[in-house]
Amino acid sequence: MKIGVFGGTFDPIHNGHLKIAEAARAKLDLAEVYFVPAARTPMKGGSILPAEHRVEMVRLAIAPYPYFKLSTIEMERPGLSYTVDTINELHGKLGVENELFFILGWDSLAQFPRWREPARIIQIGRLVAVPRPGYPLPDKDALEVSVPGISERLIVLEKPALDISATEIRQRVAEGLSIRHLVPEAVAEYIKENRLYLR
Ligand code: ATP
Repeated sequence: MKIGVFGGTFDPIHNGHLKIAEAARAKLDLAEVYFVPAARTPMKGGSILPAEHRVEMVRLAIAPYPYFKLSTIEMERPGLSYTVDTINELHGKLGVENELFFILGWDSLAQFPRWREPARIIQIGRLVAVPRPGYPLPDKDALEVSVPGISERLIVLEKPALDISATEIRQRVAEGLSIRHLVPEAVAEYIKENRLYLR
């Protein structure tokens, strides 16, 4: 089976994430896409919401999609979360006969050479890079110099391009603005009920 893996802080999960995962699933005919909320990542500071809330919002957001799954694999591992460990473990758990496709935005692709063991990551799975407004597609030759072999393991999607970020959502909530068009209804409700992201 072809299986998608979509890691993120999901603080909170938003419609951009869902559309991206759906685009990758449809384009590559993925049987399932695993959403993997990060515990603590080396890329983002310490001020992310506790994992329980982020996990719960992912659960609510993906509930209507039978082929979207939640993996709490990073919550179960102590210390910082590294993608290489996550996809290595998932590959083993799901069965090594499955082909993994790691979904990420063009902004994250630009950072990819600085992740831990990028060469190992592209050995285990392929990368699916989705456009993100405001971020150009990283130069493929430069990527190839930093991570030899990446060109053959990289699938670049040209659609969709959605200008939504979790940062904008957190700011809007703090300012008392509506986020109903940016996140699934159940996530908006959860944020409201739990009084998340208020100043
Ligand atoms: P923040 O604003 O807090 O940095 P975010 O919206 O970037 O959050 P993350 O959970 O950090 O969300 O993102 C997880 C993955 O989804 C990353 O690979 C990121 O590149 C990608 N991603 C998030 N939003 C978009 C978007 N609108 N278009 C394309 N990729 C996106």
